Order: sequence, then structure tokens, then C-alpha cells
Amino acid sequence: MIIIIAGPSGAGKTTLCKMLVENMDNIVYSISATTRKKRKEEEEGEDYHFLTEREFKRWEREGRFLEVAKVHNYYYGTPRDMVMEYLSNKKDVIMDIDIQGAEGIREKIKDVVSVFLLPPNMEEILHRIKKRGMNNKEEIKNRLEDALLEIEEVRNFDYVVVNNNLEETILVIKSIIIAERHSIDRMEV
Ligand code: 5GP
Repeated sequence: MIIIIAGPSGAGKTTLCKMLVENMDNIVYSISATTRKKRKEEEEGEDYHFLTEREFKRWEREGRFLEVAKVHNYYYGTPRDMVMEYLSNKKDVIMDIDIQGAEGIREKIKDVVSVFLLPPNMEEILHRIKKRGMNNKEEIKNRLEDALLEIEEVRNFDYVVVNNNLEETILVIKSIIIAERHSIDRMEV
């Protein structure tokens, strides 16, 4: 199955996905492509495939994305081949994507479990966005506004988790994944 972790910027999605993959068997992280600039602590091909806008558009024309979205003025997309290969090898794939992306994936793939991750409060969102070294006022404002709009989409999700405490959140999402693996709909019987 695909496990979507969506929710506003600053909810802690990326850290959570990475820790889950380290903590569980048979689950891999879907590495997205983006046109946004690489941050200091990020690695090409590990955090994202960092593409120019031209390269991104070419990948898009070549049908290499399962879904694409423009988020905070940059393009983001989920590469199709990697996800499909893992699924056919019976691996679960976890992805950290935005709300539009979640809709795009649901339209194309049946076996999806979606989790909406919420940060504890708006102040915490601001704190986490700033901690990323983002000082551009316009960009911070865009991210906060998008975060408010996104929170309204919560009803389209299977689960909602408030990320008060990372350890506990990992436990909750791990439990969701384990339970979903035992769902009768997912059994090949
Ligand atoms: P950031 O630039 O902070 O890494 O991510 C910004 C937003 O883009 C986050 O909400 C993240 O979940 C979302 N995002 C990352 N990869 C993808 C993707 O492949 N598709 C979509 N639709 N959103 C993505």
C-alpha cells in the first residue's frame, strides 16, 4: 500500500517519514523531485531529486510523475517508476506530500492510506518554518497561509494525528500501518 503523510508545512512530516522507515520493515520512502533549492542539510537523491524547472517540465512531459503540484511557488512531483516497482515487490511506500498531491495519488491508486499530520499549534508551525533558516518574509507568509488552507482539507483523510511528541507520533503511525497491513481488504485471499 501507499501511506500518504500530508499536512501543513512545519508539521514534522519529513522527520517522521524518515524515522518510520528506519524503524519498520518492508517500507520505503518515496523520494520526490522538486524545483526548490537544496537546503544545507539535504542530499541530492536522498531527500529530493533537485531539478531545474526545465528538467522538471521534461520529466512531466515524459510521464515520469504519478502526481505533480505547485507548492509555495515551486514544483514538486512523485516519480512513478520507483513507487510502482516497490509496490510490485510487495513493499509499502510512504510519502510526504501536500494535499493536492494526496488527491492526485488517490485518483490513480486504490491502495492508499492517508494520514493528516497536524502540528501542535500555529506558533509551532511558525517556529518550525523559521528553524529551517527561512528568513524571507514573503516565503514564511506564503507557507503560513497555505498551512491554514490545508487544515480545512482534513476531512478527506483516513486518519488525523497531532504531532505533539515525535516518539508518540511514530508509535501511532506505526500502529496504523500495522493495523492496515492486517486489513481483510488487503489480504490476497
Ligand atoms: P519542503 O519544500 O518543505 O520540503 O516541502 C514543501 C511541501 O511540499 C511539503 O508540504 C511537502 O509535503 C510537499 N511535497 C514534497 N514532495 C512532494 C511531492 O512529490 N508532491 C507533492 N504534491 N507535494 C510534495
